[in-house]
Amino acid sequence: MNMDSKEVKSVEMRIKSADGAYRWYSYRYKSIEATDNTLPLFGGAILDITDEHEKDIRIERLAYIDEVTEIANRNKLLKEGTSIYDSSKLLHYNFWIIVLDIDRFHIINDTCGYENGNTILKNFAHILYKFVTPGGLAARISGDNFALILRDYGDDDLPVRTVKSIQDEFARLAVDQLSSINLSCSAGYSMLPRDGKSFRDILDHAEFALKSASGSQGCICAYEPSMHDSIIGNTEMEKALALAIEKNELQLFYQPKIDLATNKIMGVEALIRWIKPDGTIISPDVFVPIAESSHLIGKISDYVLNEGCRQNKLWQKMGYPNIVMSINFASTDFYQTDLKDKVFEALARSGLDAQWLEVELTETLALSDVNFAIAQMNKLRELGVKLAMDDFGTGYSSLSYLQTLPITLLKLDRSFITDIEHDNIAYEIVSAVIRIAKSKKIETIAEGIENHVQESILRMAGCDYAQGYLYGKPMPPAELQKFFEENAKI
Ligand code: C2E
Ligand code: MG
Ligand code: MG
Repeated sequence: MNMDSKEVKSVEMRIKSADGAYRWYSYRYKSIEATDNTLPLFGGAILDITDEHEKDIRIERLAYIDEVTEIANRNKLLKEGTSIYDSSKLLHYNFWIIVLDIDRFHIINDTCGYENGNTILKNFAHILYKFVTPGGLAARISGDNFALILRDYGDDDLPVRTVKSIQDEFARLAVDQLSSINLSCSAGYSMLPRDGKSFRDILDHAEFALKSASGSQGCICAYEPSMHDSIIGNTEMEKALALAIEKNELQLFYQPKIDLATNKIMGVEALIRWIKPDGTIISPDVFVPIAESSHLIGKISDYVLNEGCRQNKLWQKMGYPNIVMSINFASTDFYQTDLKDKVFEALARSGLDAQWLEVELTETLALSDVNFAIAQMNKLRELGVKLAMDDFGTGYSSLSYLQTLPITLLKLDRSFITDIEHDNIAYEIVSAVIRIAKSKKIETIAEGIENHVQESILRMAGCDYAQGYLYGKPMPPAELQKFFEENAKI
């Protein structure tokens, strides 16, 4: 047998030490050819990798477990769901995906306090978990949204029956002071692989059914392809939006970002607003998704890119301190092959130096086609443009991608910051993320800071920058100039 090998191999092992504790070791070795009747020789080194191992487990936990309810999070749902989808196609099994939403949760949360809100979430997760059957999964998608994947055995009533049982148990839940509150949940469901081209598609469809169900409390609604016909409202909105773009009703507001070390403004985020002639302001959460599902987003993004650069250069010419202008990109913009040219042209046209422009991308956007995204990101980095990962912690996998994506800034999602004051775990996560980001030379900013307690906690955790209503809401350029002047006095 020829066992000679130039290749370094490795095995990992767990060994119990004398004190009874387990430690992890990695044995990296090369094997040397064994002549007849002699045993092969191995040469190498044994390394104690217990710390790395613990870090990996922690990262895995951060990436896949929901900290509040301790059940699977959205990342895990997407990962497992995709593999369930693939095997259901291959093996001709069916699964149900049920998406559940706690009725009036935000009101309960506001009126009964955060602690009680969390208790309800935990209990709800606990109830869901009881209904998981082999091969299935219970997960918290976000806020008060949960999902349950169930294997189908040819019983079409299973989703409705399961949700009714969940509703019964949930209604019985007496949470001390909350006993007077009527707890209920609504649900939407779809079947896989039947109801879509991918797991995400099917999950979207279940969520779509849930939205159709959420008219009244306790509704349960199955996904039907014909539901899409009812989105006529969107087409109307699309027409109105197209007209609004022509009439220049879209404007950029700017929200300041603060350097926590100096309390000085170090950047702004450009946030789009649709201002109707009567002065009503429409939020991007309403019209950006509609623009994204049509060709309109391209026009909006061209405007945002060019206007953002122009405004920043103008402020520089007016003598205000140099700051970074961050703009948000939608997936269709980001995946355009001429993205680099467009950004280059916007910089050239405005005369803005690339170091003062930053593009914000969400995890979901960056990870929907990782290789292409990395290539696009590198092209932008070649220009000297900065790259921020927006809403970090809400999307897919996260921490492991910090290694691969060439980002310069990590924006911790507002949901972490809201929790940080009262929730030790949120604090632990945030400080771990900041530490890991630092070790990768990635700067960090916290979104949605609303009070000084949150600010000092984040400063303590080593966060570089901050953004939120505490410093300023998104505002028109003239108001931001006043902000610059006030800030200069600090
Ligand atoms: P985002 O990029 O994560 O922007 C942050 C959002 O959080 C903004 O909402 C901002 O007003 C809000 N915010 C900031 N600080 C606080 C705070 O302290 N408390 C609270 N409660 N909220 C805070 P906005 O402006 O409504 O934008 C919503 C989303 O719409 C943005 O999320 C972004 O994803 C999208 N968006 C905005 N402008 C554009 C754009 O020009 N292009 C594209 N593609 N998307 C945009
Ligand atoms: Mg953003
Ligand atoms: Mg954000």
